[in-house]
Amino acid sequence: MAESKRDYYEVLGVSKNATDDEIKKAYRQTAKKYHPDMNPGDKEAEAKFKEASEAYAILSDADKRRQYDQFGHAAFEQGGGGAGGFDFSGMDMGDIFGDIFGDLFGGGRSRRANNGPQKGANVRTGIRISFEEAVFGTEKELELNLKEKCDTCSGSGAKPGTQSETCSKCGGKGQVVYTQQSLFGMVRNVQACPDCRGTGKIIKEKCPDCYGNGYVTKRKKIQVTVPAGIDHGQSIRIRGKGEPGVNGGEQGDLLVEVAVSSHPIFRRQDYDIYSTAPMSFTQAALGGDVRISTVDGDVLYTIKPGTQTDTKIRLRGKGVPTLRNKEIRGDHYVTLVVQVPSKLTSEQKDILEKYAEASGERDGNGPEKGGSKGKKSKLFGK
Ligand SMILES: [Zn+2]
Ligand SMILES: [Zn+2]
Repeated sequence: MAESKRDYYEVLGVSKNATDDEIKKAYRQTAKKYHPDMNPGDKEAEAKFKEASEAYAILSDADKRRQYDQFGHAAFEQGGGGAGGFDFSGMDMGDIFGDIFGDLFGGGRSRRANNGPQKGANVRTGIRISFEEAVFGTEKELELNLKEKCDTCSGSGAKPGTQSETCSKCGGKGQVVYTQQSLFGMVRNVQACPDCRGTGKIIKEKCPDCYGNGYVTKRKKIQVTVPAGIDHGQSIRIRGKGEPGVNGGEQGDLLVEVAVSSHPIFRRQDYDIYSTAPMSFTQAALGGDVRISTVDGDVLYTIKPGTQTDTKIRLRGKGVPTLRNKEIRGDHYVTLVVQVPSKLTSEQKDILEKYAEASGERDGNGPEKGGSKGKKSKLFGK
């Protein structure tokens, strides 16, 4: 291992205190120059590319960079086995490439256009549920067109008893290389083979049931378990019900986006519920039990004498269950609002008049300061 391995900073041509951005930039440039897609068959370029990728893998990771700064290459040598090279197994090079080459090669998918297995695309659909269903969870049945592996040909697309042939255009590789003039000079562009659509195989005699697609579309009913606590706009993932994979890749997922209808009384914010509840003005003044609607049904809440309108109370644990654990719930915040009666019987009126008198409101000391109520109402009555 001690065979003069170049310093990582030197490999990328950056200083020891280069910023993350500088390191990324330097790697992009080096990788662009030596990328195997642009230098096919050039062993030296390939080695340079690997060296730069290794340097980048270390220096772009804060922890590994610290270890490297401290111990040098020795930090990553394994037990003196000396097998040489660098262990990429622990890291996701796909991520690094996706990140680095995303804009250079037009996305990871086309860059890796080969006949390896590829997961199918996700399919999206939506359901609408009520406020209560979102709070407590529900089961819904969806009916939709889903793609499934064709039983007749087991997904091969070839008529039973026949076999597909290796594609002659791409020699079975599933990809073709185009050379193109670009800003960086001649660029070799790798694309999925148009003849075999990246599969590397040509089906001579197509399966009569799926017309060579390998899958069939069927109208299917699907049970969707909507978990308690789900919120408007969240999606439920149902694995393996999306588009079929390519070349034995797994099927994509079905994503069911949930729309939650609004409720006439309750409003929701995260896992808390908000509402207003009426109390009579005698309840507010004298105290008493107020009936309050919650998602668990009505509860009686005892208010203190002299409770003001717009008083906010909290009903602990009467909110929405959390998605992780439905035993843990948010709270329900209630704003108590005094209802003023709009119709009074003559008896009620008399009592209230007496109340007003007893409160001194008829001597010009109350809220009706500076004039009698009678005069005012006559004025406005005209
Ligand atoms: Zn078939
Ligand atoms: Zn082909």
